Amino acid sequence: MNKIALITGSSRGIGAATAKLFAEKGYIVCLNYNKNENAANEVATSIQEKGGRCFVVQADVSKEEDVKRLFTHIDEELGVLSVLVNNAGLLRQQMRLVDMNAERINFILTQNVTSAFLCCREAVKRMSTATGGQGGVIVNVSSGAARSGSPNEYIDYAASKGAIDTLTKGLALEVANEGIRVNCVRPGLIYTDMHADGGEPYRIERLKSKIPMQRGGEAKEVAEAIYWLASDKASFATASFLDVTGGL
Ligand code: NAP
Repeated sequence: MNKIALITGSSRGIGAATAKLFAEKGYIVCLNYNKNENAANEVATSIQEKGGRCFVVQADVSKEEDVKRLFTHIDEELGVLSVLVNNAGLLRQQMRLVDMNAERINFILTQNVTSAFLCCREAVKRMSTATGGQGGVIVNVSSGAARSGSPNEYIDYAASKGAIDTLTKGLALEVANEGIRVNCVRPGLIYTDMHADGGEPYRIERLKSKIPMQRGGEAKEVAEAIYWLASDKASFATASFLDVTGGL
């Protein structure tokens, strides 16, 4: 029987590459997006053209009611969720901390942290063997920024990823004996739209000489790491962090 995977924020970038990979490996994929319906539908078409199975659900995963609706949709239309990838995330214009206001800081934390907490909560409710579930895997997408702190660019974003690391550690230990593994991938500089949202579409070109491998990463390279952590090949890995950064 095909397993079911929910990839949040899978209309573009790393999420889209991850959704395509899981579909190729035989998962039924729940594609989630917030605003970009066309991009989500393009990912779905590309999966379906290769014989994969997926469906698309709009939900702003930073909103509790949307998250509940998303998971209820999976329960009713698909069945038992095996894998959650908490990938949805964003950043805003580069600036120093002294210029940040509360609206911006709270927005970033709600979008990147509250969203992952809410999705973890709904997944654990369904997966935990302590409450009759069949177990499962959660992979959180953090960032190398959690370690670098992103000075002069977006400390708020970096701190939100620090919170994802802590969420991963705490939840992994909380549910380790309930059939759920919780792990984390920390990408480095990956070619996606996200850098343009920070006001610097060619950011990787500026920074790539600092990367030991001297290049940016592709979304597919992150997807492979996420897939491995979700797979049975990683059956004894929990509370683990996999850096996909070219050595940065
Ligand atoms: P991206 O290309 O900008 O794509 C972001 C995706 O997240 C889009 O599909 C977007 O949906 C979705 N999304 C954003 N907010 C959402 C919300 N509230 N609800 C549902 N979906 C939402 O970004 P990316 O580079 O692939 O980033 C994916 C993850 O990797 C993020 O967590 C990011 O922090 C992390 N990361 C990226 C890099 C990098 O260099 N690119 C490095 C380290 C970590 P719409 O299309 O509907 O807007």
